[in-house]
Amino acid sequence: MTRLILFGAPGAGKGSVGDCLEKKRGYVRIATGDLIRAEVKARSPLGLQVQEILDRGGLVSDGIIIEMVKQHVQTLNTDGYILDGFPRTLAQAQALSALPCQREIAFYLEVNEDLVVKRLLSRLVCQQCGTIYNTLTRPPQMEGVCDLCRGTVSRRSDDNEATIRQRIAVYLEQTMPVIEYYKGHDRLCTVDGVGSPKEVAERILKVLE
Ligand code: AMP
Repeated sequence: MTRLILFGAPGAGKGSVGDCLEKKRGYVRIATGDLIRAEVKARSPLGLQVQEILDRGGLVSDGIIIEMVKQHVQTLNTDGYILDGFPRTLAQAQALSALPCQREIAFYLEVNEDLVVKRLLSRLVCQQCGTIYNTLTRPPQMEGVCDLCRGTVSRRSDDNEATIRQRIAVYLEQTMPVIEYYKGHDRLCTVDGVGSPKEVAERILKVLE
């Protein structure tokens, strides 16, 4: 089992790049943000509990997130998986290291802060299938409608400027040390995150060859 970890600021392109890698390698992408948003959408007890955290750009508790990831990884029947948005804290990184795998590489998608804010403010997401659009670079053919599944395309509730700034602050404070941890253990590969998701995914695939 191979484990790829995608690190990068909110808006660095982890979701879109992870999607390309999933298609190219047949690995399963596990995006903790997607799992959390599904709970909120379903208005489950957990969803109701975490909605407010999501809206203010905070982190959901380690215990909840670690349990979610463990459950997903246990049911996998593939050669590998891609983690997008996990681990975000040192406690999560420690819990992850207890899950066995033969090969693990963490990729850090490097982009500057101005670019991520611009990307997030112009990002739209299909509420049904999760396809990511961008009002500037990749708008849906018909406004508000997904090209692929005809679902509703709209902005994520946490993609507003105040919440974006908070998410970046949390990222710098909580997740940067995790990235340093992987770097210190020689398990981090830094990749230029500027360019289309396909271009960035190609850079990662070259490292995996
Ligand atoms: P994302 O889609 O990765 O930007 O995540 C959206 C939101 O979900 C974050 O701002 C957090 O509130 C929550 N979340 C996602 N992944 C994690 C994680 N690994 N640890 C804690 N909270 C998370």
